Amino acid sequence: MLKPFLFQSALAGLLVLTTATAWANDLTPQTREQLKAIKAHALNDDLSYQIIESLTTEVGPRMVGTPGEKASVKWAMQKMKSLGFDKVWKEESEATLWQRGELKASITQPYKQKIKALALGNSVGTNGKAVTAEVIEFENLDALKAASAGDIKGKIAFVSYKMARHRDGHGYGQAVGARVVGASEAARKGAVAFVMRSVGTDTNRFAHTGVQIYQDGVDKIPAIAISNPDADLLASMLTRNKPVTFSLTLSDTGTQNQTTTIANVIGEVTGSKYPDQVVTLGAHLDSWDVGTGAVDDGIGVGITLAAGHYLSELETRPERTLRVILFAAEEIGLHGAKDYVAKHQDEMDKHVIGAEWDFGNGKIYELEPGVGQQSLADIKAFAKMLVPMGVTLANSNDATGQSDMSELGKAGQPAVNFNPDGSDYFDFHHTENDTLDKVDREALKVNTAIYSMFALFATDSTTDFRQ
Ligand SMILES: [Zn+2]
Repeated sequence: MLKPFLFQSALAGLLVLTTATAWANDLTPQTREQLKAIKAHALNDDLSYQIIESLTTEVGPRMVGTPGEKASVKWAMQKMKSLGFDKVWKEESEATLWQRGELKASITQPYKQKIKALALGNSVGTNGKAVTAEVIEFENLDALKAASAGDIKGKIAFVSYKMARHRDGHGYGQAVGARVVGASEAARKGAVAFVMRSVGTDTNRFAHTGVQIYQDGVDKIPAIAISNPDADLLASMLTRNKPVTFSLTLSDTGTQNQTTTIANVIGEVTGSKYPDQVVTLGAHLDSWDVGTGAVDDGIGVGITLAAGHYLSELETRPERTLRVILFAAEEIGLHGAKDYVAKHQDEMDKHVIGAEWDFGNGKIYELEPGVGQQSLADIKAFAKMLVPMGVTLANSNDATGQSDMSELGKAGQPAVNFNPDGSDYFDFHHTENDTLDKVDREALKVNTAIYSMFALFATDSTTDFRQ
């Protein structure tokens, strides 16, 4: 529940004391009090959860090109307005449409068994026929790349690499390459289909989808991910010294290369003194189609909108503008973020600093900056405020921003990454199991408090984070 009146009363006296001077190296007592007040408010509130509940209940899956995605744009604009953002707008562009076909997969030799699988994003279908062929296994993408065409031609290439579980999620980076380029690598050597173990850390009998990208000039072959238990099963069959055949039928995946309109939804809490200087918070609005996109990236939507709302409630507005950007089409290749940078080229130098949330439901344990050497002292001073919340400052200073925000980082925007415990994120990432119940409500409160504190710190600072 919101208690805007109490919140404003508690903060009003403190905020009028804010001065325009930079917060050099240590925060002033007033700033510390303001940050403590917004923290206490967020920790005692449930707004970010209510936003995620609303998005997953009233909209649900939001894959690019689906009615759910269109509905999410309307939902986001209405939500931002109702939460007190001063300006709300959308910026449209085009992306290539892909529709999921119906998939049936099974092992047909030497022992018949049905397999749980999902097509990877952009996969072509099988033209109404079953593709059935002998399976050849590769332990990872490198092994597939090193294999000779003679061994693969006419077969189904199976990459069995199992993603490792780590707190920082780096196992994903080691596994995802096969998903993105595996199909084309296999097709280049004459494979008729590409099958991979899901990029996921769970033992559930469902698959993890995700984007794969065909390389130009290479045949497009069907590409699917199978569940972890089914990958184990297939690997076991392959130890029997008998040919193993696999069959898949994937119905029409829609007109190829058809474009669809996508939209970034943007809301601002206007700064009182430097409205053209923007601090950005980002998340992506699109999701995969199989779950409800509660964690990926409903949580990011909830956290960033709640932070914007808390800033909009302050009686004395911060000096800089807070811009919350809900990016379109992240899942199929950061299209919304790329479009944003193209459209805002002229004001990129006014993008003061940014942070995205697109990494799971765990509690933040680390602040990783990516700012100029001089302003690092300010980040350090801010980071001290997060120590009681279990957050440490990383030794590095080269963050460019998570997912979408990395595109703005490449265009020169300083960034901070707030790194959460991602140990279980890849248990449900891109699956039918990405649903509201996976949201850790206590961690969410703490993370929302941290983003709200960061938003207030950066918008009410005059620090040049490029310096
Ligand atoms: Zn995401």
